[in-house]
Amino acid sequence: MMQKRRRLLTGGAVAAAAGLGLPAVAHAQQTFSWKMTSAYGKGSPFYMEGPGSATDLARRIEAMSGGRLKIQVFGAGELIPALEGFDAVRAGTVEMNHANSYFWTGKTFAAQYFCAVPFGLNFQGINGWLYDGGGQQLWNEVYAPFGLVAMPCGNTGVQMTGWFKKEIRSSADFKGLKMRIPGLAGRVYASLGVDVKLLPGGEIFPALERGVIDAAEFVGPFQDRKLGLHKAAKFYYTTGWHETATVSELLINKAAWDKLPKDLQAIVENASAACNVISEAWCQRTNAEAMEDLMKNQGVIARPLPEEVLKKLRETTNQVLAEAAAKDPLTRKVHDSYMAYKKKFDAWSGYSEGPYHDKILAA
Ligand code: CA
Repeated sequence: MMQKRRRLLTGGAVAAAAGLGLPAVAHAQQTFSWKMTSAYGKGSPFYMEGPGSATDLARRIEAMSGGRLKIQVFGAGELIPALEGFDAVRAGTVEMNHANSYFWTGKTFAAQYFCAVPFGLNFQGINGWLYDGGGQQLWNEVYAPFGLVAMPCGNTGVQMTGWFKKEIRSSADFKGLKMRIPGLAGRVYASLGVDVKLLPGGEIFPALERGVIDAAEFVGPFQDRKLGLHKAAKFYYTTGWHETATVSELLINKAAWDKLPKDLQAIVENASAACNVISEAWCQRTNAEAMEDLMKNQGVIARPLPEEVLKKLRETTNQVLAEAAAKDPLTRKVHDSYMAYKKKFDAWSGYSEGPYHDKILAA
C-alpha cells in the first residue's frame, strides 16, 4: 500500500516538474559567449594551462553547461595589457578576468585580503574564511561599488621566500640588498633597508644573473626552476612568509552575471571551486618533484629565514596592515573579519596541523 502510494506521489511530482519544466526548456536554449582575460601570458603553467587553470576553468564551464556558456580565454597582452583586467571587466569590455586580487590594491586596499596577506592564512585557512567564514560575502561587498563580483578559482599553495645570492644570517644582511619583490611584501622589506625592484616574471632571471638584483621571489620550486632562478642564485629561502597561500581570482562583471540564469551561475561557482582545489593539487605534486630535483641535482641550499628576521618582518607587516585599516572603514571591516577568523584557525591548528608537522611527521 505504502509502496503504491509512494509511486503515485513520485509520478505526480514528475508530472508537475514536467509542466513547470516547459519554460526551463526554452530557457536552456539561450547561450552566452563571454570573454575572459588573464594577467598571465598565454601558455603560462598553472595560470593559463594545466589542471585548474583559466583555460581548464573555461573548458569545465562549457562542458557542464552543455555549451550554453562559452568562454574565450585571452592571455596577457592578447586583448588588453596584463594588469588592466579590473578596468576591462568593470567597463564590460570583457565579462571575466583571471588574476589575483592583490593587483587591485590601488583601487581598494581591502582586495589584498582576498589574495595573500603576509603571515596570513594557509590554503585550508583561506578557504575556511572565504567559503565558511564570511570572506566571500565581504569580497562581494568590497567590489559592489565597482559593479563587480569575484570568487576564488585557484591557489598556488604556500610560495617560497625566494632566491638569494648570499646567505642571510640576520636582518642586517637585508640592508642595501636589491630584491625583486612586488606588492605589500616589498613595502615590508623596504623597512629593513631593501632596495625593492619591480620586475615582470620574464625579466627576473637575466637581472639576477647579471647582478642587477641580489635576490628575487617568484612563486615556488616548479615555476622558479622554469625561470632558471637556481642557476643565478643558490640560497633558496623556503616557506614564503609573504604569500602563504595565494588565491587566484575570477572577476566577473556584475551586470553580465545578473543576466545569467541561476543554473549557469551555479555552474560557474562550482567550476571555480573545483579549479581552486585542482590547481592547488597540481602545485603540490609539481613543487614536490621540482624541489627534489633542485636539492639533489642543482646544488641548491634550502632553509627558512632566521627567526630574528621573521620577527622583524612580522612586526612591520602588522604595522603596515594596521595603518591601512585605520585609513578606510571597509578595509577595517575586512581586516577584522580576516584576523578574527585567523585567531580561531591558528588556535585550532595548534591542536591539529601543528602537531601533525611537529610530532606525527617527526615520529
Ligand atoms: Ca610571488
